[in-house]
Formats: sequence, C-alpha cells, structure tokens
Amino acid sequence: MEEGLHFVYTGNVFNREGDTTFCPACGASLIVRDWYAILSDRIGPDGCCPDCGAVVPGHW
Ligand SMILES: [Zn+2]
Repeated sequence: MEEGLHFVYTGNVFNREGDTTFCPACGASLIVRDWYAILSDRIGPDGCCPDCGAVVPGHW
C-alpha cells in the first residue's frame, strides 16, 4: 500500500467534487475520495445507498 506512494502537495490541486460518488436516487454523497484516500464510504456491501436503498451503479 505504501510502496511507491508519494506525498505531493505543491500544485497538486484536484477536484474533490469530481471524485465524489453520489446516490443517483437521493443525491446523498456516498463515496468521497481524496486522491488515494477514501474519506467516506457509505455504500453497503450490496452496493446500495444507505439512505434510500437504491442500487448504486459501479464497482465496489
Ligand atoms: Zn440514496
């Protein structure tokens, strides 16, 4: 996991909104990614939204 991992801060601006996965049904933010790290992962093991139960398309 840490092998080859570089911590680069200078000039490394990325779009957090673009890395966020939203529920297609209720719009809740389900997965928030910050580069490598996943800050929030609320999708259940069945790939469903914890708020409304809608199936979220993607690979989990
Ligand atoms: Zn939902």
